[in-house]
Amino acid sequence: MTRPWNFSAGPSVMPLQVLQQAAAEMTDWQGSGMSVMEMSHRGKQFMHIRDQAEADLRTLLGVPDDYAVLFLQGGATGENAILPLNLIGRNGANKADYIVSGAWSEKSAKEARKYGDAAVVATSASEAVIDGRHQAPYTWFPDAGQWQVRPDTAYVHFCSNETIGGVEFTQWPDLAAVGAPGVPLVVDASSHILSRPIDFSKAAVVYAGAQKNAGPAGVTLLIIRRDLIGHALPTCPSAFDYANVEKNDSMYNTPPTYAIYMAGLVFKWLLAQGGVEAIEQENIRKAQALYQYIDGSGFYQNRVHPDVRSRMNVPFFLVDESLNAEFLAQADAAGLLQLKGHKSVGGMRASIYNAMPFEGVQALITFMKEFERRHG
Ligand SMILES: *Cc1c(COP(=O)(O)O)cnc(C)c1O
Repeated sequence: MTRPWNFSAGPSVMPLQVLQQAAAEMTDWQGSGMSVMEMSHRGKQFMHIRDQAEADLRTLLGVPDDYAVLFLQGGATGENAILPLNLIGRNGANKADYIVSGAWSEKSAKEARKYGDAAVVATSASEAVIDGRHQAPYTWFPDAGQWQVRPDTAYVHFCSNETIGGVEFTQWPDLAAVGAPGVPLVVDASSHILSRPIDFSKAAVVYAGAQKNAGPAGVTLLIIRRDLIGHALPTCPSAFDYANVEKNDSMYNTPPTYAIYMAGLVFKWLLAQGGVEAIEQENIRKAQALYQYIDGSGFYQNRVHPDVRSRMNVPFFLVDESLNAEFLAQADAAGLLQLKGHKSVGGMRASIYNAMPFEGVQALITFMKEFERRHG
């Protein structure tokens, strides 16, 4: 029996070895006589699990010492509120600037308006012609040279991988070049964290809900330059005030212990794969194979501008959309799960996160070819 290939956008496939290790340790973690979910978060066993998870995440991403690593709750959606509550009052102007490049950053900008003067300073919500290609809304990324950043904004927020649109933005700018030197960049990297290296000389804050590429749902990873901690608005809930969370090693209140443990196992698995640089090479190989096949076929299409196509989330369409239901039913029967596109985009979406092996992508391509042969 082989497991089916799971292309869910999130919660998504986990490395099989991680699931097996968690199963083996389920009722007795390393001779402690307890499941991890039964342990006091203040006991020495869980403290060790937490500390090891942070240390491994720091190693994987090369997190500089002047950045704190926090384990939070509320998901990336919660962070849409928690971030402005912590940062928007930083310099007294109560302003936050947002780049809107898809469904997730649109949500982030909307939520921030509750807490201050949140402005959209660049967006790809309109159609555009780029390199002679006609691009639909949210299939391209606004060029950083065009961002209208306000010099007194508390921060600039963008989403570096739009999970729904399949748009990945990796040319993180130096804001000095657009007249806003020193403005911190805040990045929602939920759906591609740990799939490639991160340049912390560019980003002041990087956050991610774990359930795409880093573990199960329930924990949010937040990596933040320490000088940005300690500016929360008085209305910020104590459990979400970064200063409280940092001072207490992410244990101001009970953290999501089991989710942190599972994320820690994923970090160990990644280290064993050779780290982020090695998994990036695999991700390139997987994404290239899939995009190349789609582009070469007259039967399927990807509409995202080639410069910003996501390595993690590959939306695609059947040119004859009347075949969608049949495609999905047959894919499911062939052990290729959760390929239906997000309802706002339609079509299909294959999420090929770190835990999806090249073999799974090959199985998908083989199925797509066969389906095309029978219906094309
Ligand atoms: C999934 C996702 C979110 C929302 O995460 P929740 O944990 O459901 O709040 C936000 N941003 C991006 C980029 C995502 O992929």
